[in-house]
Amino acid sequence: MSDARNRIINRPMRIKILPDVVKERIAAGEVIERPASVVRELLDNALDAGAGAIRVEIRDGGIRTIRVSDDGSGILAEDLALACAPHATSKVGSLADLDAIHSLGFRGEALASIAAVAEIKIASAPDESGLATVLSLRPEGGETHISAARVRGTTVTVRNLFSALPARRAVLRGPRSEAVRVLTVVRTYALAYPGVRFTFADDGRLILQTHGTELTSAITSIYGSDAGRALRPLEAAASEPAAITGMIASRAFSFPTRDHVVVVVNGRPVSNRSLFVAAEAGYRPLLRKGRHPLLVVLLTVPPDRVDANIHPAKAEVLLRDETTLAAALRTVVHSTLGAAPLTIGEEPLAGSHFQPMQMRLPIARPKHRIAERASRRHIRATIPPEADEPGHITTLTAIAQFDDSLILARSAAGALYLVDQHRAHERALYETLKQQTGSLLNEDHQPKNDGKTIRLHQMLLEPVLVELTSLQAMRLAQRADELAALGLECQPFGGTVFLVRAMPNIPDAAHSPTAFAAELAHTAAEDTNDWLNQICISLACRSATRRGQKLPLVRQQELLDGLRSVTAKAVCPHGSPLLLRLTASYLASKFEW
Ligand code: ADP
Ligand code: MG
Repeated sequence: MSDARNRIINRPMRIKILPDVVKERIAAGEVIERPASVVRELLDNALDAGAGAIRVEIRDGGIRTIRVSDDGSGILAEDLALACAPHATSKVGSLADLDAIHSLGFRGEALASIAAVAEIKIASAPDESGLATVLSLRPEGGETHISAARVRGTTVTVRNLFSALPARRAVLRGPRSEAVRVLTVVRTYALAYPGVRFTFADDGRLILQTHGTELTSAITSIYGSDAGRALRPLEAAASEPAAITGMIASRAFSFPTRDHVVVVVNGRPVSNRSLFVAAEAGYRPLLRKGRHPLLVVLLTVPPDRVDANIHPAKAEVLLRDETTLAAALRTVVHSTLGAAPLTIGEEPLAGSHFQPMQMRLPIARPKHRIAERASRRHIRATIPPEADEPGHITTLTAIAQFDDSLILARSAAGALYLVDQHRAHERALYETLKQQTGSLLNEDHQPKNDGKTIRLHQMLLEPVLVELTSLQAMRLAQRADELAALGLECQPFGGTVFLVRAMPNIPDAAHSPTAFAAELAHTAAEDTNDWLNQICISLACRSATRRGQKLPLVRQQELLDGLRSVTAKAVCPHGSPLLLRLTASYLASKFEW
């Protein structure tokens, strides 16, 4: 050890080109990190070969065996050895090809990289003769060729991953955890390619199977029929130069992780940060803290506007119009998820213990959570929800008020709605405030608040003195203009002290304006990008009609009308539901009409 260090310090080392075997192993390190990365590469190849059905089997989390079979084009016998050579590909031939990649693979590295770190066997039949050629390779050298019976297609079997590389193997987690990662990859591809039949078996047990039809069917196969029924298509305004399609499940089907948010660009599942951040900006205000939706986004852009060649495992792409796309994505996620009312039969209770197919994997789970689930099972609702009414909740008619807190209303399609009066008002006020501050979530939307503005300014009889830290004071000073636009006037009063001289007008607020003024000033001085949004939330919450307040019918109707122009009709700014729907057919079935 000290010997080596001395050598480095004392005299320059000679530079030489690496032998091929070393080069290959280094390259393999970049592409192949764990079983899931092998599976991803093999799926790419099967899909590039035009497969209509793909079967993935693993043993011991894929560390012992990974087998991917497809019914694609196959590989010619004479090309089989070449397929495993570094930089050997049938997909790209020139620099021009690299500028508009239509296939998932293009570097010709995957099979070579896998062969460098594991035993690999490829059986492939390129025609209907029923005969396949089988090539077996070992990392330490040695290959065999035999023939075997097989229908058209290719089966790649990868064994003993990293067995000669103890350091790499040590980085792997246990078989269960690797199996879950493989499942995540297969599930993601099954959602990205709903037209392909996917099967996944883990240690001989069937874990996932899709029908190879369309997206709703794939989601239903994976997450169950309740989730399938709760899906809403993403309805994006055509945002040149890309098309956004996909599905989002209602808020009842939320998850504690981001694993069920899938973004696909031209058929390639990607993990571009800005797209995930945009999707999250769209759903975050609509879900409880820490929850993520079931969301599949399919982006289609002209191939010359994407560069897939920026990430070793091709997990990220460079998108020329990423900022525009991200904004469009945020808008569509927000409006689709926010517009869906909670419907009897798919309330969060049903979602909170719902188990997608992956749960069949024996993953260790805390015991109390299992018990909790079991105890809730008996109250699960079983009524299938209906598809949303066209233009739903734009035409709610108030019928009566219940317990001074809920407005009962009827929709044009004859559904009964229960509307939380406080949250409905809060949502409408919030969106109006956001428009007034010029920072509505959907900046690209035209303001549609029916010309309503909230009268903001209210001079305080006595200015409120607020003392801040020096960092807070700096931030507050920088934000003074935006605050003034909201009616909150904060004046520096020497050092880190501010005077709040005016604040937004809050009719019949229960709280003392003094305490609220100070609270707003503190929120405005917080170290977060979200401060303005937080102020709008506080203002809307304080100003909204409270539960427990008797409302005449006209006022009830006004509150319902206020929901017409908002983007997220079904959720209050804190993320709680504000509408509950009982569809006409639900009522008919329950009353046996
Ligand atoms: P790339 O996918 O970048 O071309 P790979 O190393 O993954 O590189 O594969 C090398 C070549 O082997 C591919 O270009 C393709 O011609 C062939 N190949 C690999 N897997 C399959 C398969 N499942 N079906 C048909 N051809 C395949
Ligand atoms: Mg490939």
